[in-house]
Order: sequence, then C-alpha cells, then structure tokens
Amino acid sequence: MQDNVSLLYTEDRIAARVRALSHEIAADLPSDFLMVVVLKGAFVFAADLIRELHELNIHPEVGFITLSSYGSGTTSSGIVRVIGTLPDNIAGRRVLLVDDILDTRRTLAHARDLLLKEGAAEVRLCVLLDKPSRQEVTVTADYVGFTIDDVFVVGYGIDFAEAYRGLPYIGIVQQEDTAEPAPSTERADER
Ligand code: 5GP
Ligand code: MG
Repeated sequence: MQDNVSLLYTEDRIAARVRALSHEIAADLPSDFLMVVVLKGAFVFAADLIRELHELNIHPEVGFITLSSYGSGTTSSGIVRVIGTLPDNIAGRRVLLVDDILDTRRTLAHARDLLLKEGAAEVRLCVLLDKPSRQEVTVTADYVGFTIDDVFVVGYGIDFAEAYRGLPYIGIVQQEDTAEPAPSTERADER
C-alpha cells in the first residue's frame, strides 16, 4: 500500500464491478459498437472492460479522445477542449463513451455533444466513478462502476499530477501537511 493513499476499492472489488458492467453493456449494445475512451484517466478501466466484453463475445471498435479542461482557482471554468483529432468513423455509429470519473459532468457533456455533432447515432456513457454531489450540468451515466462522495481519488489509471496511475487499486490521497484528502479542484489540466 502506498504510504499517503488510503484504500477505497481493492483490485478484486474493481475487477468484479468491471465484469458486472460488461454484462450490463453486452445486454444493451450490439457487438460492433464504437468504444470511445477518454484519455488519459480511463485507459486502465477501458483495457479491463474490453477484455471482459471479449469474454461475452462482444468486440467493439476502439477510438480515443483527449480532452483538456481548465479550472480557475477552486472552480472549474467548464471550458473543455479536444486535443488532437476525434476518431474519424463516428457517423452513424452507436458509441459508448468511457471515462474515469463523472465530477461536475462538464467534460462528458461536452464530449457527448461533440460525438453527436459528428453524427453518432447514439452515445451512451460509461464511467468507473460517479460523484453525484459535484454535478453542475445534468448528465446521467448509463453505466456506473461506483458512486462515491466528494473525495479526490487516484489509482487504476487515475493520476494526481501524473503520479499513481499504476496503482492497481483506487485510493484517496492524503495531503501530507493536513492529512486531509486533496480537494478535487486541484487537478492537472489534462485529465
Ligand atoms: P468533470 O466531470 O468535472 O468535467 O471532469 C471529470 C474529470 O475530472 C475526470 O475525468 C477526471 O479527469 C477529473 N477528476 C474529477 N475528480 C477527480 C478525482 O477525484 N481524482 C482525479 N485524479 N481526477 C478527478
Ligand atoms: Mg478525465
């Protein structure tokens, strides 16, 4: 266990939940849907999810988008920018947009709107973690791994200033001076 990280979900608990999510998704979507993964935070989650879907004979195509969000002080400005290009085969597709955390929801609201503008037939949202108490715009995910309080989490692909992505579990960072969880507003620009 990492010194300054307290455990929230073990590797086993995450694996069981990701497997359950894959069953929910398999029941709803055709085998050839397009999975659009939001980089960087969702890459570990998506890697496990696609292998669970494979076990269910579901074989989505995979694309990636990188989004950048800029906060101002303690509040998110809600300005979301795409870095690089979108997958070029979105038109007419049923899309599963996969991200790590639904927080204010501005990032996924923007990404979903972009995909619909590109002609996606349908966009479903799948997030590993949902923080409903932080909601600023109305967005409901179709598939949610865990619903959590307003705590700042790391691990399982999710970083704090690029650290902790390789932790196999999800934990809460304790700030050294206060032993309080780091506020979720203090996050890297590229999420
Ligand atoms: P929002 O929903 O506020 O637009 O943005 C969600 C994004 O904020 C997530 O994809 C993630 O990148 C970042 N974020 C939100 N909460 C946390 C957290 O607890 N830890 C980390 N590392 N990033 C977070
Ligand atoms: Mg993110």
